Amino acid sequence: MQTEFDMHKVELHLHLEGAAPPTLIRQIAHEKKADIDGIFDEQGHYVFRDFEHFLAVYETATSVLTEPMDFYRLTRAVLDQSATHGVIYTEAFLSPDFCGQAQLGPWREYLSAIQEAAQESEKKHGIVMKGIVTCIRHFGPDKAKKAALCAAETAGDFICGFGMGGAETFGVQEDYIYSFDMAQEAGLRLTTHAGEWGGAESVRQAVFDLKVERLGHGVQTIDDPQLLDEVIARDITFEVCPGSNIALGIYPDTHSHPIEKLRNRGVNVTVSTDDPPFFNTDMTKEYVALSRAFSWGKEEFTALNKTALNAAFCDKATKDTLFKRLDTE
Ligand SMILES: [Zn+2]
Repeated sequence: MQTEFDMHKVELHLHLEGAAPPTLIRQIAHEKKADIDGIFDEQGHYVFRDFEHFLAVYETATSVLTEPMDFYRLTRAVLDQSATHGVIYTEAFLSPDFCGQAQLGPWREYLSAIQEAAQESEKKHGIVMKGIVTCIRHFGPDKAKKAALCAAETAGDFICGFGMGGAETFGVQEDYIYSFDMAQEAGLRLTTHAGEWGGAESVRQAVFDLKVERLGHGVQTIDDPQLLDEVIARDITFEVCPGSNIALGIYPDTHSHPIEKLRNRGVNVTVSTDDPPFFNTDMTKEYVALSRAFSWGKEEFTALNKTALNAAFCDKATKDTLFKRLDTE
């Protein structure tokens, strides 16, 4: 019997390397004789103490991905996983810094391998993937400019957005205006991590300085009623990742998470997994937890997926086809 948890889903916030199954990372490390044992626990899951350590473990795991073929395998594995949980559309964050050190030539080769994998996964599972190029905030504004150049030069049907991940407490959003402007001039749509660790002030900077139309997380906006009015007036969409916030200790459990309050206030909320194997989550687990905490059912989840598809950065034809699939499942 089909339940609301099997339904077709749209995911807007997924870091490609952050979704790497530990088995794949171990396999590639084994093939390359790289020693990364310290990042796994006895059960073979990623293990970290806090957000800083999470970023370090993430970068160690990613360090074994050194050639386009690795990213081909990664993309296939990640999309296999997403499709298992009913995802029909995913926008994955791709970081040129991890793909040939943000140099344009190598980046094109990595991107081509990722796209080839995405096309094959679409044929196999019907899952559609698009890419959002992200700079890494704690690598600094100069490296961000290189990532933005990679984004601008490869903007098109597949690369449809630009964003920023990494440590939100490093510098201020404004330091990255140059990169965001460059991406926007190339026709890319904008999102940034804000209001996960940096408080409502970081969201304010993202909205007014970077002029993004989506926020990665955004949940700390709940502390600033005036800013909430502003994000609602601007029709900004939040890429909320409850399981990630709970795993990193921002909220103790789903019931304490502000997603329901934000939704009731009129904010465009969506649900994503962020870095699923790191946070022991997947889209099904997210839906089950939200259903238990807030009694959300098919109606709420359908609305959530339509909100997500509305806010997707892909072209209109892709969106129209996907809307039909949401309606006819
Ligand atoms: Zn994220």
